[in-house]
Amino acid sequence: MTKEELWQAVLAQIQFNISPANFATWFKNTEIVDMNSGQAIISIPNNFSKEWISNKYHKLILKTLYSLDSEIKEVKYEVVRTGLKTKPATITFPETDQLEFQELKIDKKNNLNPRYTFENFVVGSFNELSFAAAQAVCKNPALTYNPLFVYGGVGLGKTHLLQAIGNEIIKKFPQKKVKYLTSEKFTSEVISAIRNHNIENLKSTYREIDVLIIDDIQFIAGKEKTQEEFFHTFNALHEKNKQVVLSSDRPPAAISALEERLCSRFEGGMIADIALPDFETRMAILKMKIQEKKADIDPKILEYIASNIKKNIRELEGALNQIITYQKVNNCPPDLEKTKTLLKNIISTPARRITPKKIIQNVAEFYDIKEADFMSSSRKKEVVRPRQIAMYLFRQELVSSYPFIGRKFGKRDHTTAIYACEKISQELEKNNKLKEEIELIKQLIYKNK
Ligand code: ADP
Ligand code: MG
Repeated sequence: MTKEELWQAVLAQIQFNISPANFATWFKNTEIVDMNSGQAIISIPNNFSKEWISNKYHKLILKTLYSLDSEIKEVKYEVVRTGLKTKPATITFPETDQLEFQELKIDKKNNLNPRYTFENFVVGSFNELSFAAAQAVCKNPALTYNPLFVYGGVGLGKTHLLQAIGNEIIKKFPQKKVKYLTSEKFTSEVISAIRNHNIENLKSTYREIDVLIIDDIQFIAGKEKTQEEFFHTFNALHEKNKQVVLSSDRPPAAISALEERLCSRFEGGMIADIALPDFETRMAILKMKIQEKKADIDPKILEYIASNIKKNIRELEGALNQIITYQKVNNCPPDLEKTKTLLKNIISTPARRITPKKIIQNVAEFYDIKEADFMSSSRKKEVVRPRQIAMYLFRQELVSSYPFIGRKFGKRDHTTAIYACEKISQELEKNNKLKEEIELIKQLIYKNK
């Protein structure tokens, strides 16, 4: 295996372990420049990235390198400015992996990624209701189900289905204006429109849309201004017979801090859920992905994957990608034992459940404070901030009630919990560093068993 191939294999695995945004930010333009007596030297385009990578990702990099080449015992980082290189350090990923984070194909006008279609969407009893409703919407936009509200757990195909609706409508009705976006994007548009005093502008842009698709609408919970703007936009579109499609991780009534009037609007259309795929469907999905990726995998391995990954189609795909990469790099398929090792990260964490304790431990560790500080009455900045972040994570990840959060953090009042959660959500809109930190903490929480 050449060092280029090795690094590609490492990246393919790292990509699976961290969020796409982090991956793109930190691992772009990195490569192995040298490998010598057990030491690998990784080049990184600037000092800032070097610091970040060596602080936050060193363990992951070393572990992954070692799992692929057990000679490697040490990793060093070196800043090599891309401009000074003789040869541009672009990583070429196997085509299949590229699809995951490449944003180039996304149409700037409507934010749709052409890779999500109905043709490559596998239908089983777990998602047939949502699928049928989606198709009905495409046949007669705004006339059958309006809004269409799809809900289901993480990685079960909500985004795929919503984007497929957009792509299909554009194909059928090229003159229709379709717009896809996440509710977080909508929120940030509202915030910047308020700041720049051009809310009228925002209103009129949204009112010209024929099909508005908003993904992960649950995140507008607790954001009053955004909810208000969305409420008016929704009504305007609905009155003009324009289609609205929404997704969420839970049904409307279960979204706390969602205004009553919005909730009842959401419930006024069609609500369809996506449940968990059964074994046969998981196999069908794997086979579909293999076809797409033009790979050839031993059916035994597929069965192993399908019987062990049950709750998340993204993970199913991630596992498959790891096997494909291994095959490419080693020129032979892994045996069952090797497969088990390769997929250990994904499979051997059956209890992906997180607990209040895990959040507290990880936040404390991340900010290097004592767990007891969370419960104390300390008003020191170094403590207050992590405490607010921990409260925010209780709310986001455990969906805890505010009184519960208040009690858990040193018998504080529920209003303190509300204040903390709102403060952090607001700051997240504009503070990328905080976003990065919370992302990292979440990875730790979900990773540590
Ligand atoms: P969610 O938005 O619910 O978190 P996604 O739509 O992002 O999930 O799906 C995660 C991955 O699984 C995507 O790569 C998607 O293409 C794939 N996927 C989900 N459902 C299906 C399906 N029914 N058939 C084929 N692929 C699917
Ligand atoms: Mg999604």
